[in-house]
Amino acid sequence: MKKKISIIVPCYNEEEALPIFYKEIKKIEEKMNYLHFEYIFVNDGSKDKTLDILRKLSKKDDKVRYISFSRNFGKEAAMLAGLEYSSGDYVTIMDADLQDPPYLLIEMYDAIEKEGYDCVGTRRVTRKGEPPIRSFFARMFYKIINKMSKTEMVDGARDFRLMTRQMVDSILELKEYNRYSKGLFSFVGYKTKWLEYENVERVAGTTKWSFWKLLIYAFEGIIAFSTVPLVVAAVIGILFFIVSFIMIIVIIAKTLMFGDPVGGWPSLVCIIFFVSGVQLFCLGIIGAYLSKTYLETKKRPIYIVKETEKDKKK
Ligand code: UDP
Ligand code: MG
Repeated sequence: MKKKISIIVPCYNEEEALPIFYKEIKKIEEKMNYLHFEYIFVNDGSKDKTLDILRKLSKKDDKVRYISFSRNFGKEAAMLAGLEYSSGDYVTIMDADLQDPPYLLIEMYDAIEKEGYDCVGTRRVTRKGEPPIRSFFARMFYKIINKMSKTEMVDGARDFRLMTRQMVDSILELKEYNRYSKGLFSFVGYKTKWLEYENVERVAGTTKWSFWKLLIYAFEGIIAFSTVPLVVAAVIGILFFIVSFIMIIVIIAKTLMFGDPVGGWPSLVCIIFFVSGVQLFCLGIIGAYLSKTYLETKKRPIYIVKETEKDKKK
């Protein structure tokens, strides 16, 4: 019997890219006729005609399933929903904009089937077509997070990867609310092969990521996979304690030796400003972890489904 592959596609305002994506992936389906294909498109609260396109696709092609969210929940939520709905022996996640080249699937499948890997990930080795400042910050981020976290994050790794059912089930065991997939994939372990390719620009539509959104995402990654910032806060505190202790001794000694001329108001103000700044910074770090814990304890759903292909076919 043919094995099944599930292709998960998170879509947010992808009306322009979707038809092109569908055409391209169908070509790969024909080439990989030794597998049964299942498509799971996740409409992440798109404001354009994405949902209409998905409804039509699922009507004419019963390999196409879709899940439509009640609002935009973000790509992480869309990926999770896709993984939960998938039923394939192999599962892959692909962007709708063809930045994840579908032809790689053939090679990825062979690596799992013939070389005994559990997962094949993809890495962009170039960041061509991306603003240089963004690439610079991205590189810095990977350097920092890899120093801070035991979970390895691969620079340039995409969410595009092919996994075995066993690995997908392990990922689904991780029930956390604050999901940072790059870390989760790495956390579960398994034997992963990396395929490298040159960056491709999206076929249509525009990127959903602004610099600001990426920066916040980066901080979330660090907080989700490292507690080093909390240690940094403690270390700063100890350092300041030692420095102030030395200063007290110096001041006492100076007063005893030279008397007590009142002065040093400007330096005092500077010290107060500096120290209170550091205190607020450390409080901010603690607050960041606290807020994440707060959200975890609420156990809110990660996504809410409004409609799936089953609703329409009745
Ligand atoms: N996406 C999503 N929800 C969002 C943002 C993005 O499902 O809130 C999808 C988007 O439709 C695309 C994929 O995630 O299929 C990657 O988004 P994009 O191409 O904008 O990111 P980039 O490739 O620029 O990192
Ligand atoms: Mg893209």
